[in-house]
Amino acid sequence: MKCSYCQQEIIRNLTFKEILFPLLIKSERCSLCQKKFKKITDPVCPTCFKPGWTVRCDECQQWKKQYPYYDFCHQALFNYNEAFKEWIYQYKFLGDFRLKTTFTVEIQEYFSHKKDWIICCIPLSEQRFLQRGFNQVEAFLQTANIKTSPLLERSIDTLPQSNKNRQERLASPQVFAATDQTIKIRNKKVLIVDDVYTTGRTLFHAAEILQKYQPEKIQTFSLAR
Ligand SMILES: [Zn+2]
Ligand SMILES: [Zn+2]
Repeated sequence: MKCSYCQQEIIRNLTFKEILFPLLIKSERCSLCQKKFKKITDPVCPTCFKPGWTVRCDECQQWKKQYPYYDFCHQALFNYNEAFKEWIYQYKFLGDFRLKTTFTVEIQEYFSHKKDWIICCIPLSEQRFLQRGFNQVEAFLQTANIKTSPLLERSIDTLPQSNKNRQERLASPQVFAATDQTIKIRNKKVLIVDDVYTTGRTLFHAAEILQKYQPEKIQTFSLAR
């Protein structure tokens, strides 16, 4: 089997179960690629998961002023380190679709605790979707067998967030709108998923739209923070 990141052959013996049920063979990273990515560990900001904080961080205090009635709660799996930046560059910007499997094991583990939640990915603009050919968030969730609902659409096309500095990102206008499915989230738990948490701007905009539909609760998740 091949490493789900560098594509090198992984040499290991299959377990008895895997020989009987080849579908059970999960995608995995080779030992080198395993070490490159660091899981976020405590302490973290209790609301946005920023590493190194034990109380609500500066950024979250600013957000609280702007959104006093939104109970923000974010979780993430990996540190946004050099290895993760390199991975996102290859997957998202170079469009290497194979890399949708790199974190399948960790994603499945996390979402196994989210069975009764409605999962919604941050949508791409039509133009970006046509350029890349896939929604990078939807692709890694689908590969992990996680069902998503299109609760949001992008109403206007803007420059990619990655071309902007922090101040420009924070000043971005609302770009999302509800879809004809958003109404179903009333009294339900909704989890909004993105690839990376940078300023939080995108997720707060997404939550702002969904909040109007009175879900029981909104939480957000990103692969990296
Ligand atoms: Zn590898
Ligand atoms: Zn925070």
